[in-house]
Amino acid sequence: MNKPHNFDNIDWFITRLCNQRKKCKFCFAPWDRFPIDATYEQAKLICQRLAEIGIKIVTICGGEPTLYPHIFETIQLLYQLGLKVNFYSNLATQKNVEVVMSILPFIDILSVPVDAVTQTAISQMRGRDQFKSVCKTLDDLQSIETKPTIKIGTVVTKQNINDLKNLFLFLENYQIINIWRIYQFSPYGQGKKYEDLFLVSDDDFNRAVSAVKKMAPNKPINISVRKRSNNIGYCHIMDSQGGLYRYEEEYIDLGVNVFNKPEEIIVHYDEKTNRLQKRWQRKIF
Ligand code: SF4
Repeated sequence: MNKPHNFDNIDWFITRLCNQRKKCKFCFAPWDRFPIDATYEQAKLICQRLAEIGIKIVTICGGEPTLYPHIFETIQLLYQLGLKVNFYSNLATQKNVEVVMSILPFIDILSVPVDAVTQTAISQMRGRDQFKSVCKTLDDLQSIETKPTIKIGTVVTKQNINDLKNLFLFLENYQIINIWRIYQFSPYGQGKKYEDLFLVSDDDFNRAVSAVKKMAPNKPINISVRKRSNNIGYCHIMDSQGGLYRYEEEYIDLGVNVFNKPEEIIVHYDEKTNRLQKRWQRKIF
């Protein structure tokens, strides 16, 4: 008898579109490495397949998922199928925010990037407009009673590493933030071109993270960390049309898709690291 597989989470890069593409020079998204976005017919089949093979948590990322033309229907379908959704948005424009607000009742985690709070670091990371828009949305979310878990993501680079303590103090003011996930910059794609500008050493990253953790002994915000080395091979990465990849500071096309047997998919990933890196998510459900 086959050993039961442990494949219960997937990261669906639902679109290649992003309105922040010119702003985030550190971005390590796959961009043109992935095929064009799925039609809604394809997306529907993928949602049904995810439920069929026992996926419990779907991370919707990209690109900027609110720009995917069928996002509302897709999220509703995942909800109807009983899957938990962790939804990423940069919240940089009013349009992004409106889409997020419209799907709020159907998602379980809203993941939002905040990389810096001092003006210079903000400008060098995602830009001031994105920061202002995120702050306003976090303010607005405070008065919404039923809302998903709010997670903040920070990519640590040379540009913002000295801003982490300020960022912690800033986030602490928002009672609604449950998780702060801190990522060491991983050089790929657009980010690879600017590696010298952004890449921090492991020692510097570890030191900065330890300093921040010392500020949070009672853990008002749950801090979760992903080092550069942890980002290799664990994430079940799926392109918009269902093709599967492994990240090794390059997106490796595995030659399988979500319609293959789960056992044929799972062998390509580091499942021990997957369990560790997705532990923060499991704690929520
Ligand atoms: S980091 Fe995210 S928001 Fe920025 S360009 Fe890349 S995909 Fe878009």
